[in-house]
Amino acid sequence: MSTYKHIQVPSHGEHITLGSDGAIQVPDEPILPFIEGDGTGPDIWKAASYVLDETVRKVYGGKRKISWVEIYAGEKSLKVYGENQWLPEETLEAIKEFKIAIKGPLTTPVGGGIRSINVALRQELDLYACVRPVRWFQGVPAPVKEPHKLDVVIFRENTEDVYSGIEFDANTSEANELIAFLKQKLPKKFVREGSALGVKPVSAFGSKRLVRRAIQFAIDKNLPSVTLVHKGNIMKFTEGGFMKWGYEAAKEFGDKVITEAEVYEKHGGKTPAGKVLIQDRIADAMFQQLLLRPDEYSVLATLNLNGDYLSDACAAQVGGLGLAPGANIGDRAAVFEATHGTAPKYAGLDKINPGSVLLSGVMMLQHLGWDEAADAIFRALSQTISHRKVTYDLARQMEGSTEVKCSEFGRLIAEAI
Ligand code: NAP
Repeated sequence: MSTYKHIQVPSHGEHITLGSDGAIQVPDEPILPFIEGDGTGPDIWKAASYVLDETVRKVYGGKRKISWVEIYAGEKSLKVYGENQWLPEETLEAIKEFKIAIKGPLTTPVGGGIRSINVALRQELDLYACVRPVRWFQGVPAPVKEPHKLDVVIFRENTEDVYSGIEFDANTSEANELIAFLKQKLPKKFVREGSALGVKPVSAFGSKRLVRRAIQFAIDKNLPSVTLVHKGNIMKFTEGGFMKWGYEAAKEFGDKVITEAEVYEKHGGKTPAGKVLIQDRIADAMFQQLLLRPDEYSVLATLNLNGDYLSDACAAQVGGLGLAPGANIGDRAAVFEATHGTAPKYAGLDKINPGSVLLSGVMMLQHLGWDEAADAIFRALSQTISHRKVTYDLARQMEGSTEVKCSEFGRLIAEAI
């Protein structure tokens, strides 16, 4: 075990380990790091961790327990570690050691230093898959007529694409040199003098490992399809490459999968039972499809920018970000996180919805293989919402509802377990 300066590892509990096949091995009392988060982070973490602990205790009758260890990032880390320590080395070390962590929202520092703590975490730990399940909870006000029809899990590639941070500002020597180079190499292409430029790297390695993870998820959860979402009609080699490499990755799964082309050529358009359908859609059409025929889609795999837009658009369709969880997963570590920000104007008011960080905890329980506890929280959360006792964000849209505090909402969910 590593020794830490400010992290106090509990005396109870054991490490999660990786088996020879790369799968996690989970003891009955795993040590799990948490980052409380900034702004409203402490409020929602307190409410959500109470529900997680109570659920595990009730569902497993004391046989299982989470042994939490606090690690630091964001503003709290500045207080503990000092100036500019937004993401201390120890925090990364602890996530590597204990393999799975959960975090509240973090303030993005303005000005110099670290660009974004979240982006740094993903890059430092190679958390290449951003996983965002989106489903509707009965009773939650939504802008569409049939929100129950949307139930998707988005796998967004987290490390490449235009998010790689390779950008040159307009009229800098780097941008001008690159423009001169492009004009020389591609005389027929139009690049305006004085443009800002960005680079969009997409690799077979990055695309395939993301698509493999999405397909394995669909197989493990008995889901009907994986849709590769891309803009390959325009960006032939990057987005088109993602689609091509995605289908190549699918071939590795042998007869567990079948492509849409094969379904039409050999099976009259009907996917044979027990196989995961692999299909692809152009990104702009996908936005339409998810509004018009959402129930035809299940797991979506896509590049970074498409995934960013699609996840929020889907979350909006079922009633917003307050109940939208997320996870960043790599081969050696995973970090589960609330997808909204720190909502600083509500900090310390015990007001906002803890649903996003709680549902991230549910994803974490599923990742641990503790599905009974995860299912119990889904049921209890749905029940609490259907009783119309909800936090302000939902109460202001739900007629006849009673507004409850963040902590009270947590307590009601825990009581309903
Ligand atoms: P934000 O914190 O997500 O808040 C924007 C608004 O969304 C809130 O004022 C509130 O709306 C609503 N909201 C957010 N979370 C809610 C919840 N749990 N329950 C109910 N309503 C919720 O976005 P921001 O103000 O743009 O960002 C604040 C800080 O967070 C920035 O430093 C930003 O960089 C950071 N951030 C961090 C993450 C992350 O750590 N993953 C993600 C995004 C942003 P109403 O005012 O309408 O009630």
